[in-house]
Amino acid sequence: MLIRKIIALSLAATAIGCWSMSAKNSDSRSVNAETDATPFATPKPKAAPTETPASSSTTSTSNMNATGTFYDNLPKTLSRPTDDVSKLLLREYGSVFVTKATPPAKIVFEDEADVSAFQKSLTRDSSSIGGYTVTLQKPAMDALKAAIAEAQKSGLSIGPRGGDSSMRTYAQTVTLWSSRVRPALAHWSAAGKISKADAARINALSPFQQVSEVLGLEEKGMWFAKDFSKSIIYSVAPPGTSQHLSMLALDVKQFDDARVREILAKHGWFQTVSSDLPHFTYLGVNESELPGLGLKKVTSGNRTFWVPDI
Ligand SMILES: [Zn+2]
Repeated sequence: MLIRKIIALSLAATAIGCWSMSAKNSDSRSVNAETDATPFATPKPKAAPTETPASSSTTSTSNMNATGTFYDNLPKTLSRPTDDVSKLLLREYGSVFVTKATPPAKIVFEDEADVSAFQKSLTRDSSSIGGYTVTLQKPAMDALKAAIAEAQKSGLSIGPRGGDSSMRTYAQTVTLWSSRVRPALAHWSAAGKISKADAARINALSPFQQVSEVLGLEEKGMWFAKDFSKSIIYSVAPPGTSQHLSMLALDVKQFDDARVREILAKHGWFQTVSSDLPHFTYLGVNESELPGLGLKKVTSGNRTFWVPDI
């Protein structure tokens, strides 16, 4: 039920945003997940829309003759998802798991220690790009630098949107999550939909434990996005699920430029979250290899997204 609703909302999305942490108060940002303007994190100021509504031109090409399915290409160390929440999260952000760099160790990291241990296991590289420090897994950084060099030959720039556009910590994902969960619990409690005791109990849970509780309440129609009209998943990334935690994502300032997107794709950086326009994911393969990894091509407007074919 929940999944069907979310899919429906995805199709209805008119803009998308990135789960950026720097935009807590930023209804002024053109694309960001914080404003709850539309499904999927979307923050786009009503006054300055720049994106083609996804619903107007979305087409999907399924991988009919895959040599490998998405699930078959998941890391062997990753437990196959058995619950609806994990499946939903994989469907929404799972492309990162087929990267040729080091994929996330879990579908949902449990806490700061969990994320930190994983991040420490990675070979990372930091570089000042566009006035901000960018930190990525080394293969992702190498590919980004190659893309930047190629872009420069054509007089183009490629850089981050802000200081939080690459690696993030677990705490950053929690802050945003809580900013939605607390008000929503108060709202549904005041509306008599859940008891005060239940609201207090959920408030006291760890963010990791809250994820399934919140999505369970949403299944009953108690939405947790900022305006309580849609799923929280379209507003903020559940704690521990962001691709940025794995240092394989970059929110690109020049995401609107088709030439930039083409150069990034040539160097293994693809758009993988169909409602998150500035967000690019390092997969590290040629585009022609993606169907064989279980991803399918989704086009929206003139943009190409590679999402799990599940
Ligand atoms: Zn992002």
